[in-house]
Amino acid sequence: MIPLTLAEVAAAVDGRLAGADPDARVTGTVEFDSRKVAAGGLFVAFPGERVDGHDYAAGAVEAGAVAVLGTREVPGVPMVLVDDALDAMGRLARAVVDRLPALTVIGLTGSSGKTTTKDLIAQLAVRLGPTVAPPGSFNNELGHPYTALQATPETRYLVMEKGARGVGHVRYLCDVVPPRISVVLNVGVAHLGEFGSVETIALAKGELVEALPADGLAVLNADDPRVDAMASRTGARVVRYGESERADVRAVDVTLDGRGRPSYTLVTPEGSAPVRLGLTGRHQVSNSLAAAAVGRELGLPLPDLAAALNELGLVSTRRMDVVERPDGVTLIDDSYNANPASTGVALRALASMRGEGRTVAVLGYMAELGDFEREGHQQVGRLAAELGVDRLLVVGEPAAPIHEGATAVGNWGGESVLLTDQAAAVEVLRSELRPGDVVLVKGSRYRTWEVADALRADAG
Ligand code: ATP
Ligand code: MG
Repeated sequence: MIPLTLAEVAAAVDGRLAGADPDARVTGTVEFDSRKVAAGGLFVAFPGERVDGHDYAAGAVEAGAVAVLGTREVPGVPMVLVDDALDAMGRLARAVVDRLPALTVIGLTGSSGKTTTKDLIAQLAVRLGPTVAPPGSFNNELGHPYTALQATPETRYLVMEKGARGVGHVRYLCDVVPPRISVVLNVGVAHLGEFGSVETIALAKGELVEALPADGLAVLNADDPRVDAMASRTGARVVRYGESERADVRAVDVTLDGRGRPSYTLVTPEGSAPVRLGLTGRHQVSNSLAAAAVGRELGLPLPDLAAALNELGLVSTRRMDVVERPDGVTLIDDSYNANPASTGVALRALASMRGEGRTVAVLGYMAELGDFEREGHQQVGRLAAELGVDRLLVVGEPAAPIHEGATAVGNWGGESVLLTDQAAAVEVLRSELRPGDVVLVKGSRYRTWEVADALRADAG
């Protein structure tokens, strides 16, 4: 954070000091987990159903917190009192960001690939200056201000994933941390259950470009018509990326190597350069182009940009995480989350990685699909069969339509089984896997990662 007096903190959050010295300065970090509090920090006490942060207020002060931001007084503890601690954290983050004029905030949203692309952008930005980006998917009302509060006067770039849970949600997150560069990746059926229609999803995601100032920049995926159309929702400058000819930052001549890693020629207004990604999956072409468009805008010259793209690595785990086991089995751990679009790209990557052995897909339930649930699962099963995946293990009854979809494909040479749970899948895999086999593990909310963990453990 930047050093603020408690009087400044109270003013920023519309709060009132109780038992606190207005001139005392917060010089450390803002934490809501009292175990992370260090000298000079500020502890935020959230009232919880099971655990109430206020119970840890005294401990936080003992650990060095200058004061506690909370909703009720705690005897002997210097407090900044507010009505709503989450809202207050958002206001504090906004106050801090507003006091950092040299900071460029990059926000991104989309149905799939937010965390991956956030990590890619951060890897490019850090070459130009100190960068703050949250770990993993820390993208909600809490993760947002928490991450922004880590910015200091030295920070040049703040990269934020904005998850949209409904109309107005991204707008709220943009009020907390206003973006200067807004990146929209794609509009798919992820979280359809919460939105009702794809049009509403597009409406919600477009709030990210609506929030731009006149001198901001919208970075839009030219290959997704719903994203491309968002140009009309902002007065800011627009840069497009993609494989389409409309794109300013383009990939042409895309190929995949035997391990599913894409190569392409990066074409920009400044010229072109060859790119060879170390990341797995065709979809990384799109994600890396989004990052390239931002990196170019931040000032990376083309040769440096191409070199940086070649060095991009995976930061957040369980997202197309490729593990080569010593026994010759390759695991693709994509078990962090799943929806039909992301499962589609993962299955395509699997199919492109076929080696000496077989391709095996272990697929679990995909959450949050609403009315599209049955159809979405069936589609994924059909695709697995159409791509010629050799073995499909469908994990758990809720995912059964995947099995139905696959077995309905007439001329498929592979085989699908519906298994009761993760343990059953691990058992089948342990008895069947041979050197040369490539296994994809993917699902959401159904602990599919337990299968991936077992396969990793087997690697020793
Ligand atoms: P969440 O909404 O759960 O936070 P996210 O948008 O942050 O998801 P990631 O965690 O980056 O997405 O990626 C999840 C999975 O989506 C990846 O493992 C991959 O299978 C798939 N994916 C990543 N990028 C794309 C893309 N551009 N298009 C389609 N699928 C993608
Ligand atoms: Mg995410």
